[in-house]
Amino acid sequence: MTGSLYEQLRAAFPADLERPFLQSPAGRRYSYRDLDLESGRLAALLADLGAEPGERIAVQVEKSPEAVLLYFACLRVGAIYLPLNTAYGPDELAYFLSDSRPLIFVGRTESADSDAAVAGAAGVPALLTLGTARDGSLWELSRERAPFDGEDMPGPNDLCALLYTSGTTGRSKGAMLTQENLASNARTLCELWGFHRGDVLLHALPIYHTHGLFVAINCVLLSGSSMIFLPAFDAAEIVRLLPSASVMMGVPTFYTRLLRHPEFGSDCCRNMRLFISGSAPLRSETFEAFRDRCGHTILERYGMTETGMNSSNPLEGERRAGSVGFALPGVDLRIVDEDGQVVSKGEVGQLEVRGPNVFEGYWRNPEKTGEAFRGDGFFMTGDLACLDADGYLRIVGRGKDLIISGGLNVYPKEVESCIDALPGVVESAVIGLPHPDFGEAVAAVIVPADPSRPPEEREILAALQDSLAKFKQPKCIFLRDELPRNAMGKVQKNTLREDYAKTFED
Ligand code: AMP
Repeated sequence: MTGSLYEQLRAAFPADLERPFLQSPAGRRYSYRDLDLESGRLAALLADLGAEPGERIAVQVEKSPEAVLLYFACLRVGAIYLPLNTAYGPDELAYFLSDSRPLIFVGRTESADSDAAVAGAAGVPALLTLGTARDGSLWELSRERAPFDGEDMPGPNDLCALLYTSGTTGRSKGAMLTQENLASNARTLCELWGFHRGDVLLHALPIYHTHGLFVAINCVLLSGSSMIFLPAFDAAEIVRLLPSASVMMGVPTFYTRLLRHPEFGSDCCRNMRLFISGSAPLRSETFEAFRDRCGHTILERYGMTETGMNSSNPLEGERRAGSVGFALPGVDLRIVDEDGQVVSKGEVGQLEVRGPNVFEGYWRNPEKTGEAFRGDGFFMTGDLACLDADGYLRIVGRGKDLIISGGLNVYPKEVESCIDALPGVVESAVIGLPHPDFGEAVAAVIVPADPSRPPEEREILAALQDSLAKFKQPKCIFLRDELPRNAMGKVQKNTLREDYAKTFED
Protein backbone atom coordinates (compact mmCIF):
# COMPACT_ATOMS: atom_id res chain seq x y z
CA MET A 1 0.00 0.00 0.00
CA THR A 2 1.22 3.50 -0.69
CA GLY A 3 0.13 7.03 0.13
CA SER A 4 -0.07 8.96 3.35
CA LEU A 5 -1.43 7.35 6.50
CA TYR A 6 -4.71 9.16 5.96
CA GLU A 7 -5.01 7.87 2.38
CA GLN A 8 -4.32 4.32 3.51
CA LEU A 9 -6.85 4.47 6.33
CA ARG A 10 -9.42 6.14 4.09
CA ALA A 11 -8.98 3.44 1.44
CA ALA A 12 -9.85 0.80 4.06
CA PHE A 13 -13.21 2.37 5.00
CA PRO A 14 -16.10 -0.06 4.46
CA ALA A 15 -18.04 0.43 1.23
CA ASP A 16 -21.12 0.91 3.37
CA LEU A 17 -20.20 4.13 5.15
CA GLU A 18 -23.15 3.77 7.50
CA ARG A 19 -21.29 1.06 9.38
CA PRO A 20 -20.35 2.13 12.90
CA PHE A 21 -16.85 3.38 13.57
CA LEU A 22 -17.22 4.43 17.20
CA GLN A 23 -19.87 4.03 19.85
CA SER A 24 -19.72 5.29 23.39
CA PRO A 25 -21.71 3.91 26.32
CA ALA A 26 -23.03 7.45 26.80
CA GLY A 27 -24.90 6.95 23.51
CA ARG A 28 -22.68 8.77 21.06
CA ARG A 29 -22.29 7.02 17.74
CA TYR A 30 -20.17 7.89 14.72
CA SER A 31 -20.47 5.92 11.50
CA TYR A 32 -17.69 5.96 8.94
CA ARG A 33 -19.70 8.59 7.07
CA ASP A 34 -19.82 10.71 10.24
CA LEU A 35 -16.10 10.25 10.73
CA ASP A 36 -15.48 11.47 7.21
CA LEU A 37 -17.82 14.44 7.51
CA GLU A 38 -16.96 15.61 11.03
CA SER A 39 -13.21 15.19 10.73
CA GLY A 40 -13.50 16.98 7.37
CA ARG A 41 -15.14 19.95 9.07
CA LEU A 42 -12.50 20.07 11.78
CA ALA A 43 -9.79 19.75 9.12
CA ALA A 44 -11.30 22.67 7.20
CA LEU A 45 -11.06 24.84 10.30
CA LEU A 46 -7.48 23.78 10.97
CA ALA A 47 -6.56 24.48 7.34
CA ASP A 48 -8.12 27.94 7.53
CA LEU A 49 -5.90 28.62 10.51
CA GLY A 50 -2.89 27.74 8.37
CA ALA A 51 -2.41 24.05 9.25
CA GLU A 52 -0.46 22.25 6.54
CA PRO A 53 2.24 19.59 6.32
CA GLY A 54 5.05 20.32 8.76
CA GLU A 55 3.00 22.47 11.17
CA ARG A 56 2.46 21.11 14.67
CA ILE A 57 -0.95 20.93 16.30
CA ALA A 58 -0.63 20.39 20.05
CA VAL A 59 -3.62 18.85 21.79
CA GLN A 60 -4.22 18.51 25.52
CA VAL A 61 -7.83 17.43 25.93
CA GLU A 62 -9.80 14.82 27.85
CA LYS A 63 -10.49 11.56 26.06
CA SER A 64 -13.63 11.85 23.93
CA PRO A 65 -14.87 10.63 20.53
CA GLU A 66 -14.36 14.15 19.19
CA ALA A 67 -10.68 14.04 20.21
CA VAL A 68 -10.34 11.04 17.86
CA LEU A 69 -11.98 13.11 15.10
CA LEU A 70 -9.39 15.80 15.78
CA TYR A 71 -6.56 13.28 15.38
CA PHE A 72 -8.09 12.28 12.07
CA ALA A 73 -8.50 15.93 11.03
CA CYS A 74 -4.78 16.51 11.63
CA LEU A 75 -3.98 13.51 9.43
CA ARG A 76 -6.23 14.93 6.72
CA VAL A 77 -4.45 18.28 6.56
CA GLY A 78 -1.11 16.47 6.82
CA ALA A 79 -0.07 18.38 9.95
CA ILE A 80 1.98 16.91 12.79
CA TYR A 81 -0.25 15.70 15.61
CA LEU A 82 1.09 16.29 19.11
CA PRO A 83 -1.04 14.82 21.90
CA LEU A 84 -0.28 15.67 25.53
CA ASN A 85 -1.22 13.91 28.74
CA THR A 86 -3.86 15.91 30.61
CA ALA A 87 -1.94 15.28 33.83
CA TYR A 88 0.70 17.81 32.73
CA GLY A 89 0.41 21.13 34.56
CA PRO A 90 1.15 24.66 33.29
CA ASP A 91 4.96 24.47 33.72
CA GLU A 92 5.18 21.24 31.78
CA LEU A 93 2.82 22.58 29.14
CA ALA A 94 5.00 25.67 28.80
CA TYR A 95 7.99 23.44 28.11
CA PHE A 96 6.18 21.33 25.49
CA LEU A 97 4.84 24.39 23.70
CA SER A 98 8.11 26.27 23.65
CA ASP A 99 9.96 23.16 22.49
CA SER A 100 7.52 22.13 19.76
CA ARG A 101 6.35 25.60 18.63
CA PRO A 102 2.91 24.52 17.43
CA LEU A 103 0.76 26.60 15.10
CA ILE A 104 -2.37 25.65 17.04
CA PHE A 105 -2.97 24.53 20.61
CA VAL A 106 -6.23 22.76 21.44
CA GLY A 107 -6.86 22.63 25.19
CA ARG A 108 -9.69 21.75 27.56
CA THR A 109 -12.64 24.10 27.87
CA GLU A 110 -12.23 24.22 31.65
CA SER A 111 -8.60 25.32 31.57
CA ALA A 112 -9.01 27.87 28.76
CA ASP A 113 -7.81 30.84 30.84
CA SER A 114 -4.65 29.32 32.22
CA ASP A 115 -3.91 27.66 28.84
CA ALA A 116 -4.30 31.04 27.11
CA ALA A 117 -1.67 32.51 29.43
CA VAL A 118 0.77 29.63 28.84
CA ALA A 119 0.17 29.42 25.08
CA GLY A 120 0.40 33.21 24.76
CA ALA A 121 3.73 33.29 26.61
CA ALA A 122 5.02 30.52 24.34
CA GLY A 123 3.96 32.51 21.26
CA VAL A 124 1.43 29.97 19.95
CA PRO A 125 -0.57 31.75 17.20
CA ALA A 126 -3.93 30.03 17.63
CA LEU A 127 -5.72 28.69 20.69
CA LEU A 128 -8.84 26.52 20.54
CA THR A 129 -10.73 24.41 23.06
CA LEU A 130 -12.46 21.06 22.95
CA GLY A 131 -14.71 19.72 25.70
CA THR A 132 -16.15 16.25 26.18
CA ALA A 133 -19.77 17.30 25.47
CA ARG A 134 -19.30 18.30 21.82
CA ASP A 135 -18.38 21.74 22.99
CA GLY A 136 -15.48 24.16 22.86
CA SER A 137 -14.39 26.61 20.18
CA LEU A 138 -12.85 23.97 17.92
CA TRP A 139 -16.16 22.18 17.71
CA GLU A 140 -18.33 25.27 17.45
CA LEU A 141 -16.25 27.04 14.80
CA SER A 142 -16.19 23.96 12.60
CA ARG A 143 -19.98 23.42 12.51
CA GLU A 144 -20.90 25.33 9.38
CA ARG A 145 -17.85 24.46 7.34
CA ALA A 146 -17.67 22.43 4.18
CA PRO A 147 -15.40 19.41 4.72
CA PHE A 148 -11.73 19.87 3.85
CA ASP A 149 -10.92 18.64 0.38
CA GLY A 150 -7.21 19.45 0.04
CA GLU A 151 -5.28 17.07 -2.12
CA ASP A 152 -1.70 17.89 -1.30
CA MET A 153 -0.93 14.89 0.85
CA PRO A 154 2.45 14.44 2.53
CA GLY A 155 4.92 11.76 1.47
CA PRO A 156 5.88 8.63 3.44
CA ASN A 157 8.89 10.26 5.09
CA ASP A 158 7.09 13.41 6.19
CA LEU A 159 6.38 13.79 9.87
CA CYS A 160 2.95 12.82 11.06
CA ALA A 161 3.18 12.88 14.86
CA LEU A 162 5.35 14.22 17.62
CA LEU A 163 5.02 12.15 20.79
CA TYR A 164 6.90 13.23 23.87
CA THR A 165 8.51 10.42 25.84
CA SER A 166 7.54 10.08 29.48
CA GLY A 167 10.91 11.55 30.51
CA THR A 168 11.84 9.53 33.57
CA THR A 169 15.49 10.43 33.01
CA GLY A 170 15.64 14.15 32.39
CA ARG A 171 13.38 16.22 30.17
CA SER A 172 10.87 14.59 27.86
CA LYS A 173 12.02 14.40 24.27
CA GLY A 174 9.75 14.68 21.24
CA ALA A 175 9.87 11.50 19.15
CA MET A 176 9.38 12.38 15.47
CA LEU A 177 7.20 9.78 13.76
CA THR A 178 6.70 9.71 10.02
CA GLN A 179 3.67 8.80 7.96
CA GLU A 180 5.30 5.49 7.06
CA ASN A 181 6.37 4.75 10.65
CA LEU A 182 2.71 4.72 11.67
CA ALA A 183 1.29 3.26 8.47
CA SER A 184 3.74 0.33 8.30
CA ASN A 185 3.13 -0.56 11.94
CA ALA A 186 -0.65 -0.36 11.51
CA ARG A 187 -0.57 -2.62 8.42
CA THR A 188 1.63 -5.18 10.17
CA LEU A 189 -0.42 -5.32 13.38
CA CYS A 190 -3.75 -5.37 11.62
CA GLU A 191 -2.70 -8.44 9.67
CA LEU A 192 -0.75 -10.16 12.45
CA TRP A 193 -3.62 -9.91 14.93
CA GLY A 194 -6.23 -10.85 12.35
CA PHE A 195 -8.29 -7.65 12.51
CA HIS A 196 -11.35 -7.84 10.27
CA ARG A 197 -14.48 -5.87 9.55
CA GLY A 198 -16.58 -7.71 12.12
CA ASP A 199 -14.28 -6.88 15.02
CA VAL A 200 -15.39 -4.65 17.87
CA LEU A 201 -12.54 -3.26 19.94
CA LEU A 202 -13.17 -2.32 23.55
CA HIS A 203 -11.17 0.90 23.93
CA ALA A 204 -10.38 2.01 27.49
CA LEU A 205 -6.79 3.26 27.06
CA PRO A 206 -5.74 6.91 27.11
CA ILE A 207 -5.30 8.44 23.65
CA TYR A 208 -2.25 10.63 24.28
CA HIS A 209 -0.02 7.53 24.17
CA THR A 210 1.04 5.32 21.26
CA HIS A 211 -0.87 2.30 22.63
CA GLY A 212 -4.40 3.73 22.74
CA LEU A 213 -3.86 6.17 19.91
CA PHE A 214 -1.96 4.45 17.13
CA VAL A 215 -1.99 0.74 17.95
CA ALA A 216 -5.68 0.62 18.84
CA ILE A 217 -7.30 3.25 16.63
CA ASN A 218 -5.23 2.62 13.50
CA CYS A 219 -5.95 -1.13 13.66
CA VAL A 220 -9.67 -0.37 13.84
CA LEU A 221 -9.54 2.09 10.94
CA LEU A 222 -7.36 -0.08 8.74
CA SER A 223 -9.73 -3.02 9.11
CA GLY A 224 -12.88 -0.90 8.76
CA SER A 225 -14.08 -2.37 12.07
CA SER A 226 -15.55 -0.54 15.03
CA MET A 227 -14.86 0.30 18.64
CA ILE A 228 -16.66 0.83 21.90
CA PHE A 229 -15.02 3.91 23.30
CA LEU A 230 -14.80 4.44 27.05
CA PRO A 231 -13.56 7.61 28.73
CA ALA A 232 -11.32 5.54 31.03
CA PHE A 233 -10.88 2.04 32.41
CA ASP A 234 -13.57 0.92 34.82
CA ALA A 235 -13.67 -2.80 35.60
CA ALA A 236 -17.45 -2.97 36.15
CA GLU A 237 -18.09 -1.15 32.89
CA ILE A 238 -15.70 -3.46 31.03
CA VAL A 239 -17.43 -6.54 32.43
CA ARG A 240 -20.75 -5.09 31.28
CA LEU A 241 -19.50 -4.31 27.76
CA LEU A 242 -17.26 -7.31 27.06
CA PRO A 243 -20.12 -9.42 25.60
CA SER A 244 -20.47 -6.82 22.83
CA ALA A 245 -16.76 -6.83 21.98
CA SER A 246 -14.31 -9.14 20.23
CA VAL A 247 -10.90 -7.58 21.03
CA MET A 248 -9.50 -5.61 23.96
CA MET A 249 -6.14 -3.90 24.24
CA GLY A 250 -4.94 -3.13 27.72
CA VAL A 251 -2.06 -2.46 30.04
CA PRO A 252 -1.36 -5.14 32.67
CA THR A 253 -3.26 -3.19 35.34
CA PHE A 254 -6.47 -3.68 33.33
CA TYR A 255 -6.05 -7.42 33.65
CA THR A 256 -5.23 -7.44 37.36
CA ARG A 257 -8.25 -5.22 38.00
CA LEU A 258 -10.53 -7.42 35.94
CA LEU A 259 -9.35 -10.42 37.95
CA ARG A 260 -10.36 -8.61 41.13
CA HIS A 261 -13.88 -8.08 39.80
CA PRO A 262 -16.19 -10.83 41.10
CA GLU A 263 -18.33 -10.94 37.95
CA PHE A 264 -15.47 -11.31 35.50
CA GLY A 265 -15.29 -14.79 33.94
CA SER A 266 -15.75 -16.83 30.79
CA ASP A 267 -19.39 -15.85 30.44
CA CYS A 268 -18.78 -12.17 29.74
CA CYS A 269 -15.92 -13.12 27.36
CA ARG A 270 -18.12 -15.32 25.17
CA ASN A 271 -17.72 -13.17 22.05
CA MET A 272 -14.12 -12.20 22.64
CA ARG A 273 -11.42 -13.52 20.35
CA LEU A 274 -8.36 -11.64 21.62
CA PHE A 275 -6.98 -9.89 24.70
CA ILE A 276 -3.76 -7.96 24.06
CA SER A 277 -1.42 -6.56 26.71
CA GLY A 278 1.52 -4.19 26.54
CA SER A 279 3.22 -0.96 27.69
CA ALA A 280 4.46 -2.63 30.87
CA PRO A 281 5.44 -6.19 31.83
CA LEU A 282 2.57 -8.62 32.31
CA ARG A 283 3.35 -10.81 35.29
CA SER A 284 3.24 -14.56 34.70
CA GLU A 285 0.84 -14.90 37.65
CA THR A 286 -1.62 -12.55 35.92
CA PHE A 287 -1.23 -14.39 32.61
CA GLU A 288 -1.99 -17.76 34.27
CA ALA A 289 -4.79 -16.48 36.52
CA PHE A 290 -6.49 -14.85 33.54
CA ARG A 291 -6.37 -18.06 31.53
CA ASP A 292 -7.73 -20.07 34.46
CA ARG A 293 -10.51 -17.58 35.05
CA CYS A 294 -11.88 -16.97 31.57
CA GLY A 295 -10.11 -19.40 29.24
CA HIS A 296 -8.30 -16.69 27.22
CA THR A 297 -4.54 -16.54 26.80
CA ILE A 298 -3.44 -12.92 26.81
CA LEU A 299 -1.28 -11.97 23.84
CA GLU A 300 1.60 -9.82 25.06
CA ARG A 301 3.45 -7.48 22.74
CA TYR A 302 6.27 -4.99 23.18
CA GLY A 303 6.82 -1.50 21.86
CA MET A 304 7.68 2.05 22.75
CA THR A 305 6.91 5.64 21.82
CA GLU A 306 9.94 5.89 19.54
CA THR A 307 9.23 2.72 17.59
CA GLY A 308 5.60 1.78 17.83
CA MET A 309 5.36 -1.99 18.19
CA ASN A 310 8.43 -4.19 17.77
CA SER A 311 7.45 -7.70 18.78
CA SER A 312 4.40 -9.78 19.51
CA ASN A 313 3.37 -13.21 20.65
CA PRO A 314 1.65 -15.10 17.86
CA LEU A 315 -2.06 -15.09 17.14
CA GLU A 316 -1.79 -18.76 16.19
CA GLY A 317 0.76 -20.76 18.17
CA GLU A 318 2.13 -20.60 21.68
CA ARG A 319 1.74 -17.34 23.60
CA ARG A 320 4.35 -17.56 26.30
CA ALA A 321 4.06 -16.09 29.79
CA GLY A 322 6.80 -13.55 30.53
CA SER A 323 7.70 -13.24 26.85
CA VAL A 324 6.86 -10.57 24.30
CA GLY A 325 7.08 -12.98 21.39
CA PHE A 326 8.87 -12.57 18.09
CA ALA A 327 10.07 -9.61 16.06
CA LEU A 328 7.28 -8.22 13.88
CA PRO A 329 7.62 -8.91 10.15
CA GLY A 330 10.03 -6.32 8.69
CA VAL A 331 11.50 -5.41 12.11
CA ASP A 332 15.08 -6.46 12.98
CA LEU A 333 15.90 -7.04 16.63
CA ARG A 334 19.32 -7.74 18.14
CA ILE A 335 20.69 -7.98 21.65
CA VAL A 336 24.16 -6.62 22.22
CA ASP A 337 26.70 -6.26 25.01
CA GLU A 338 28.31 -2.99 26.13
CA ASP A 339 30.68 -3.06 23.15
CA GLY A 340 27.83 -3.48 20.69
CA GLN A 341 28.62 -7.16 20.01
CA VAL A 342 25.65 -9.51 19.57
CA VAL A 343 25.35 -11.79 22.63
CA SER A 344 24.58 -15.52 22.51
CA LYS A 345 21.07 -16.93 22.93
CA GLY A 346 19.88 -16.79 26.51
CA GLU A 347 22.25 -13.97 27.51
CA VAL A 348 20.95 -10.62 28.67
CA GLY A 349 21.99 -7.49 26.79
CA GLN A 350 20.74 -4.19 25.37
CA LEU A 351 17.93 -4.51 22.88
CA GLU A 352 18.30 -2.68 19.57
CA VAL A 353 15.73 -2.41 16.77
CA ARG A 354 15.65 -1.35 13.15
CA GLY A 355 12.72 -1.21 10.77
CA PRO A 356 10.17 0.98 9.00
CA ASN A 357 8.49 1.58 12.38
CA VAL A 358 11.53 3.23 13.98
CA PHE A 359 11.26 6.99 14.42
CA GLU A 360 13.31 9.69 12.68
CA GLY A 361 14.94 11.07 15.82
CA TYR A 362 14.24 13.49 18.66
CA TRP A 363 12.70 16.83 17.80
CA ARG A 364 15.31 19.61 17.62
CA ASN A 365 17.76 17.41 19.48
CA PRO A 366 20.45 16.08 17.13
CA GLU A 367 22.68 15.26 20.07
CA LYS A 368 20.23 12.85 21.74
CA THR A 369 19.28 11.46 18.34
CA GLY A 370 22.94 10.74 17.59
CA GLU A 371 23.37 9.00 20.94
CA ALA A 372 20.33 6.80 20.33
CA PHE A 373 21.28 5.33 16.95
CA ARG A 374 24.09 3.05 15.79
CA GLY A 375 25.85 3.74 12.50
CA ASP A 376 23.93 0.91 10.81
CA GLY A 377 20.56 2.41 11.71
CA PHE A 378 19.72 0.33 14.80
CA PHE A 379 17.97 2.25 17.59
CA MET A 380 19.14 1.55 21.12
CA THR A 381 15.93 0.99 23.03
CA GLY A 382 17.44 1.22 26.52
CA ASP A 383 15.68 -2.04 27.40
CA LEU A 384 17.50 -5.13 28.60
CA ALA A 385 16.35 -8.32 26.98
CA CYS A 386 17.24 -11.89 26.12
CA LEU A 387 16.14 -14.42 23.53
CA ASP A 388 14.95 -17.89 24.58
CA ALA A 389 16.50 -20.82 22.72
CA ASP A 390 13.48 -20.97 20.41
CA GLY A 391 13.44 -17.26 19.62
CA TYR A 392 10.92 -15.84 22.10
CA LEU A 393 11.99 -12.41 23.31
CA ARG A 394 11.96 -11.51 26.99
CA ILE A 395 12.23 -7.97 28.33
CA VAL A 396 14.25 -8.04 31.52
CA GLY A 397 13.81 -4.37 32.42
CA ARG A 398 14.99 -0.88 31.58
CA GLY A 399 18.76 -0.52 31.34
CA LYS A 400 18.66 2.33 33.84
CA ASP A 401 16.99 0.03 36.37
CA LEU A 402 19.88 -2.43 36.23
CA ILE A 403 21.49 -2.66 39.68
CA ILE A 404 25.26 -2.91 39.99
CA SER A 405 26.01 -4.11 43.48
CA GLY A 406 29.64 -4.64 44.45
CA GLY A 407 30.47 -4.61 40.73
CA LEU A 408 28.00 -7.39 39.91
CA ASN A 409 24.94 -6.97 37.69
CA VAL A 410 21.57 -7.70 39.25
CA TYR A 411 18.54 -7.76 36.95
CA PRO A 412 15.55 -6.62 39.02
CA LYS A 413 13.12 -8.82 37.08
CA GLU A 414 14.88 -12.00 38.20
CA VAL A 415 14.66 -11.01 41.86
CA GLU A 416 11.07 -9.77 41.48
CA SER A 417 9.98 -13.08 39.92
CA CYS A 418 11.38 -15.02 42.90
CA ILE A 419 9.73 -12.72 45.43
CA ASP A 420 6.38 -12.63 43.58
CA ALA A 421 6.22 -16.43 43.76
CA LEU A 422 6.33 -16.40 47.58
CA PRO A 423 3.16 -16.91 49.60
CA GLY A 424 1.57 -13.73 50.93
CA VAL A 425 3.13 -11.53 48.22
CA VAL A 426 1.03 -9.81 45.56
CA GLU A 427 3.90 -8.18 43.71
CA SER A 428 7.23 -6.49 44.18
CA ALA A 429 9.60 -3.92 42.72
CA VAL A 430 13.33 -4.35 43.13
CA ILE A 431 15.53 -1.26 43.03
CA GLY A 432 19.12 -0.24 43.65
CA LEU A 433 19.80 2.21 46.49
CA PRO A 434 23.04 4.14 47.06
CA HIS A 435 25.25 2.16 49.43
CA PRO A 436 28.61 3.29 50.88
CA ASP A 437 30.22 -0.10 50.45
CA PHE A 438 28.50 -1.82 47.50
CA GLY A 439 27.86 1.28 45.41
CA GLU A 440 24.28 0.11 45.09
CA ALA A 441 22.38 -2.23 47.37
CA VAL A 442 19.49 -4.40 46.24
CA ALA A 443 16.23 -3.38 47.93
CA ALA A 444 12.79 -4.91 47.48
CA VAL A 445 9.49 -3.09 47.82
CA ILE A 446 6.77 -5.63 48.46
CA VAL A 447 2.98 -5.45 48.28
CA PRO A 448 1.61 -8.00 50.79
CA ALA A 449 -1.62 -9.86 50.08
CA ASP A 450 -2.88 -9.05 53.56
CA PRO A 451 -1.43 -5.75 54.83
CA SER A 452 -2.58 -6.55 58.37
CA ARG A 453 -0.45 -9.73 58.36
CA PRO A 454 2.45 -9.09 55.98
CA PRO A 455 5.14 -11.75 55.55
CA GLU A 456 8.12 -11.12 57.82
CA GLU A 457 11.38 -9.85 56.35
CA ARG A 458 13.38 -12.78 57.67
CA GLU A 459 10.87 -15.26 56.19
CA ILE A 460 11.23 -13.65 52.78
CA LEU A 461 14.99 -13.58 52.95
CA ALA A 462 15.12 -17.19 54.12
CA ALA A 463 12.89 -18.23 51.23
CA LEU A 464 15.22 -16.57 48.72
CA GLN A 465 18.39 -18.27 50.02
CA ASP A 466 18.19 -21.16 47.58
CA SER A 467 16.84 -19.40 44.54
CA LEU A 468 19.15 -16.36 44.38
CA ALA A 469 22.88 -15.86 44.74
CA LYS A 470 23.84 -13.87 47.84
CA PHE A 471 24.64 -10.66 45.91
CA LYS A 472 21.15 -10.68 44.34
CA GLN A 473 19.29 -11.05 47.62
CA PRO A 474 17.71 -7.86 48.94
CA LYS A 475 19.62 -6.07 51.68
CA CYS A 476 16.37 -4.60 52.91
CA ILE A 477 12.66 -4.93 52.37
CA PHE A 478 9.96 -2.28 52.40
CA LEU A 479 6.24 -2.94 52.53
CA ARG A 480 3.69 -0.84 50.67
CA ASP A 481 -0.02 -1.22 50.01
CA GLU A 482 0.55 -0.66 46.31
CA LEU A 483 3.32 0.22 43.89
CA PRO A 484 3.32 3.70 42.34
CA ARG A 485 2.27 3.38 38.68
CA ASN A 486 1.64 5.82 35.86
CA ALA A 487 -1.45 5.72 33.65
CA MET A 488 0.17 3.15 31.37
CA GLY A 489 0.68 0.78 34.29
CA LYS A 490 4.44 1.26 34.49
CA VAL A 491 5.90 1.02 37.99
CA GLN A 492 7.55 4.34 38.82
CA LYS A 493 10.88 3.07 40.11
CA ASN A 494 12.23 6.64 40.20
CA THR A 495 9.71 7.45 42.91
CA LEU A 496 10.69 4.39 44.90
CA ARG A 497 14.40 5.17 44.56
CA GLU A 498 13.75 8.71 45.81
CA ASP A 499 11.58 7.55 48.71
CA TYR A 500 14.20 5.16 50.05
CA ALA A 501 17.36 6.93 48.85
CA LYS A 502 18.75 7.61 52.32
CA THR A 503 18.35 4.08 53.69
CA PHE A 504 22.06 3.24 53.71
CA GLU A 505 23.45 6.70 54.38
CA ASP A 506 26.45 6.74 56.72
P1 AMP B 1 6.51 4.07 26.22
O1 AMP B 1 7.48 4.81 25.37
O2 AMP B 1 5.83 4.91 27.24
O3 AMP B 1 5.56 3.29 25.40
O4 AMP B 1 7.37 3.03 27.07
C1 AMP B 1 8.12 2.06 26.41
C2 AMP B 1 8.74 1.13 27.40
O5 AMP B 1 7.73 0.36 28.06
C3 AMP B 1 9.62 0.11 26.74
O6 AMP B 1 10.90 0.64 26.44
C4 AMP B 1 9.65 -0.98 27.80
O7 AMP B 1 10.57 -0.67 28.82
C5 AMP B 1 8.24 -0.93 28.37
N1 AMP B 1 7.36 -1.94 27.77
C6 AMP B 1 6.46 -1.81 26.80
N2 AMP B 1 5.83 -2.98 26.56
C7 AMP B 1 6.36 -3.88 27.42
C8 AMP B 1 6.13 -5.25 27.69
N3 AMP B 1 5.21 -5.96 27.05
N4 AMP B 1 6.88 -5.84 28.65
C9 AMP B 1 7.82 -5.15 29.33
N5 AMP B 1 8.07 -3.85 29.14
C10 AMP B 1 7.34 -3.21 28.20
